[in-house]
Amino acid sequence: MTAVSALPAVAAGPDLLGRSLRDVRISVTDRCNFRCPYCMPKARFGPGHRFLPRAEALDAREIVRLAGVFASLGVTKIRLTGGEPLLRPDLVEIVEGIALLGVPDIALTTNGALLRRQAVRLRNAGLHRVTVSLDSLDPAVFSAMSDSRVEVSEVLDGIAAAREAGLEPIKLNCVMQRGVNEDGLLDLVDFARREGLGLRCIEYMDVGSTNGWRKADVVSGEEILERVSAVYPLLEEDLDPGAVARTYRFADGAGDLGVITSVSRPFCGDCTRARLGVDGKLYTCLFATSGIDLREPLRAGADDNALRRMVADRWKRRDDRYSELRGLGIAAGERIEMSYIGG
Ligand code: SAM
Ligand code: SF4
Ligand code: SF4
Repeated sequence: MTAVSALPAVAAGPDLLGRSLRDVRISVTDRCNFRCPYCMPKARFGPGHRFLPRAEALDAREIVRLAGVFASLGVTKIRLTGGEPLLRPDLVEIVEGIALLGVPDIALTTNGALLRRQAVRLRNAGLHRVTVSLDSLDPAVFSAMSDSRVEVSEVLDGIAAAREAGLEPIKLNCVMQRGVNEDGLLDLVDFARREGLGLRCIEYMDVGSTNGWRKADVVSGEEILERVSAVYPLLEEDLDPGAVARTYRFADGAGDLGVITSVSRPFCGDCTRARLGVDGKLYTCLFATSGIDLREPLRAGADDNALRRMVADRWKRRDDRYSELRGLGIAAGERIEMSYIGG
């Protein structure tokens, strides 16, 4: 396994818009035990759906090797995602390998259903923290939004397990959809404040091409802030460069609330993120229509320097700013699904 120190650290970029590569999301599987309609609607991801054959997905050693390449290019944050990353049997091995590289921030995004079983092992492997997606505390709404047999109590238990294992700070992701879960916003806020969790409300996005996205279904970050601050006054915080959420501290000191306003107030200017798809394609935007293949050269015996050059060259040519262009009414082509590219 390549240790970070084995390669001289050279920053990738800046890209054509002056942004350096700092963080990478790695999708470790395109499979999921949920069928959230905004991400993997059953009509498209039903029993007949053909997921990527296992041999075509990167194996644990390949993922760790590429993580080492990213780290040597200045990446300090790696988030494992999917699909549902906890479905990947060798996730502990992946985390262990990335931790051995010395990456300062290793995070995982999960729907939480399998967290109780795996939290301690992941912590021992070197995972630092988790973000758990939780769209509603209401059992009926949760069930409709996950379109699964998993109960919301199992996710809450997963969150408790993450805390017991020390996978903190824990964040909660919530996708707010008009007329679906917006009425439960304040319940989620109360829960997060009580439990010391950082709630991040994500505007419903037009990722992929299967969720039937309509702008009318988006609850804007502005509206979320208005609703919450009417009950719990908020103080604005500075936006960290590279952070996607605008975070606001509760005036009474009970934690913070973030809004991710990809639709209403894009943040492409600060986007320092790349995504590695399940099959080893590297994407430089969540809304990309294509990526560069790293699996083929990896399997053909390319050394780390060659892989580094490929990533750095691609990054240097990057001019992605889809969300800003969407705001200007400029549409893009067929986009990669969120479960594949890693949300
Ligand atoms: N399965 C894991 C989970 O749900 O946390 C990780 C993968 S999921 C694709 C990552 C994040 O993307 C989740 O927080 C999910 O809510 C969010 N997401 C998926 N589809 C979305 C959409 N259309 N708009 C906004 N966020 C979305
Ligand atoms: Fe699965 Fe996460 Fe997508 Fe829901 S958001 S379908 S849990 S990958
Ligand atoms: Fe980054 Fe693309 Fe999202 Fe803009 S639209 S913030 S470039 S991922």
